[in-house]
Amino acid sequence: MPIEVKPRIVVLYGSQKGQAQSIAEGIAEEAEGNGLLAELSCLDQNDKYNLEKEKSPVVFIVSTTGDGEPPDNALQFVKHIKKKTHSSDHYKHLHYALLALGDTNYENFCNCGKTIECRLQELGAQRFYATGYADDGTGLEVVVDPWLEGLWKAVKAALTKMSSDRNFKEDSEKTISDLSIPDVQLNLLSLTKHQSPDLDPKCSSTGSQVTSPSVEGVSLTTPPAETQNTDPAISNAPSLSQSVPLLSDLSLNVPSLPPPFLDVSLQEVDTVDEIFGPLNSKTLNEVPISRAVCLTTGESVKTAILIELDITAYPMLTYQPGDSFDVFCPNRASEVKLLLRRLGLEDQENRHVQVSLCKNTKKKGAQVPSYIPQNISLLYLLTWCLEIRSVPKKAFLRALVEHTADSVQRRRLQELCSKQGTTDYNQFVRESSLSILELLDAFPSCLPPLSLLIEHLPKLQPRPYSAASCRLQHPGKLNFVLSVVEFPACSGRPVERRGLCTGWLFDRVTPLLVLPEEAESQCHVVTPRIHVSLRPNCSFRHPPDTSVPLIMVGPGTGVAPFIGFLQQREKERQQNPDAVFGETWLFFGCRYRDRDYLFREELESFVSNGTLDHLKVCFSRDDQREQEDAIVSGGPPRYVQHNLLLFSHKIINILLKHNGCLYVCGDAKNMAKDVNDTLMEMIKSELQVDQLEAMKQLAGLREEKRYLQDIWG
Ligand code: FAD
Repeated sequence: MPIEVKPRIVVLYGSQKGQAQSIAEGIAEEAEGNGLLAELSCLDQNDKYNLEKEKSPVVFIVSTTGDGEPPDNALQFVKHIKKKTHSSDHYKHLHYALLALGDTNYENFCNCGKTIECRLQELGAQRFYATGYADDGTGLEVVVDPWLEGLWKAVKAALTKMSSDRNFKEDSEKTISDLSIPDVQLNLLSLTKHQSPDLDPKCSSTGSQVTSPSVEGVSLTTPPAETQNTDPAISNAPSLSQSVPLLSDLSLNVPSLPPPFLDVSLQEVDTVDEIFGPLNSKTLNEVPISRAVCLTTGESVKTAILIELDITAYPMLTYQPGDSFDVFCPNRASEVKLLLRRLGLEDQENRHVQVSLCKNTKKKGAQVPSYIPQNISLLYLLTWCLEIRSVPKKAFLRALVEHTADSVQRRRLQELCSKQGTTDYNQFVRESSLSILELLDAFPSCLPPLSLLIEHLPKLQPRPYSAASCRLQHPGKLNFVLSVVEFPACSGRPVERRGLCTGWLFDRVTPLLVLPEEAESQCHVVTPRIHVSLRPNCSFRHPPDTSVPLIMVGPGTGVAPFIGFLQQREKERQQNPDAVFGETWLFFGCRYRDRDYLFREELESFVSNGTLDHLKVCFSRDDQREQEDAIVSGGPPRYVQHNLLLFSHKIINILLKHNGCLYVCGDAKNMAKDVNDTLMEMIKSELQVDQLEAMKQLAGLREEKRYLQDIWG
């Protein structure tokens, strides 16, 4: 019997938070249904793949992190391919496709993917499918889904082309007398016939109606009769659990079922070891909160709280202004209880969780998650290990379908994870930041096993906060400011809720909370403690040379690191009165002068003692009507970028002629992008140059580490 050898593909990923990894795993899983053998590796497992000799198609899935950096597990790979010693035909033999994940709210969108792509091209590699650039800012699915859909066709075309290239090469290596002219023509003809597929992923996604799971890894489902909305009392607007025509009438392309890969059992134990915090890590410190000050008043503003930590006994937390640190918070006890109840496990919370790999799992590269330690209780697992608030991905919804008894609910879950239901998924799940608990509430007949949650819920991540103090000014103290995140009620969430960490911190500090004027006299009998670890930021630092002019842009809580910078400068001025200090500018913005102007007194005192030369503040909601009129007539600025424009000439001069540094901190969603666009306009008009030249100037500033961002969203 001849043994059928399936064609190989290599799938490589670089992933920071697991999104790229999970897409790569999905590709590896679907490969089999497409008659292929996939070898899946993380880019840092370089003993498992060898691109220098790889003859099969290679699919890269890479994300970008921070300020355009590669994910940690792709760093070495990027370093390797960037080596100057590689010749321009180093990867001539390599055929690749690349999907880059990024977020346009951040600078250097998809930078890691672009860097790899650019270098592969420079080294002669051949791209067999158009590179996808997926934007988390607008929804990864928008690009990822069609890209994945077109991938298999492209891989098959690439395999055919590669094999015909090989035949052609072998043939041409025969002596010319062995070849008749028609043979050569035939090979050339087959080459043109098997050109790469259309490289536009949008084009390749159209036209192929998928009908069989064995062909494309997706299945076509038709609506059950019950989904038709015939009850006139039922609203015609869709909601999380209710579908309306057209969607409810459509045949759906549903992703293939992710193969289960974990066996989970709950062991009864004699004694219960109570653990009250995240498990030991060498860098973790449980520090007391010594002060909590509410920096905002009134309505229509986000509550901002300054928290002071007493780090006297924690040398590991020696920080510099510009650094941030991680806060480890647990999931809410009430939500953990509800989830246990919902899973029918409320009486088993103290049992130990044993997790192992399913013996016959079809999942490629399956592993027991490294963040689930041995010998922990079920309660501990749900409290400290899994992000139970995370937004369920489409693959999770697909898996939940299998555990849902009611056919109408099944259908709705199928819709939400289908290609046709993307708009509903984005509206009711993704943009609402729905959690698994909220989702299960809306689908009461869905009873997933615990193993499914462990397979699909990501690791509970600590939340970073920027230091808002300097040790010279506040020895033994570490301050930070948090803005309390509020999730409004929506379909699937009857009442609003706070962000996980900010809500938890808010509850912890409420008994201590005072107003700024009472802060000095604050003293507590009981001080709550929180677990933190330092996250040094080696680039977002005050320049060592004090004569360098500084421009700081930090609206809202983005002002935090600049409070640290200015406190340090104030001290340095006192200690070295003869030293030269460059000009300092701070652009701050908030909604109302009298409600959320954070650190107002401290900032004004920096100005009056000469630490800060220019404080430019704007209010986006004060005297709204007047301001709107004023904007039209070039009046008071509303957002930080408007203020930057007003001082365009001086700012550009400082940056481009006096070697100044520009720091931007805060909201990544709009502010950082708007500031960047404004800077571009400022350079264009001040230097009278075109867009390309302005981009080069900004890129130059970044390269020299004189345009730095610390942004989040
Ligand atoms: P979560 O429960 O994690 O929810 C926040 C998520 O929900 C975000 O992804 C957000 O996009 C989304 N979201 C927010 N509001 C809504 C809404 N209404 N509807 C739907 N989705 C929504 N934060 C500060 O306040 N101060 C700082 O100094 C600070 N420094 C940071 C420094 C760094 C380097 C980084 C990366 C982040 C920083 N952050 C800071 C952000 C902080 O880490 C947390 O992300 C933030 O406090 C929210 O945490 P949470 O657990 O309360 O919210």
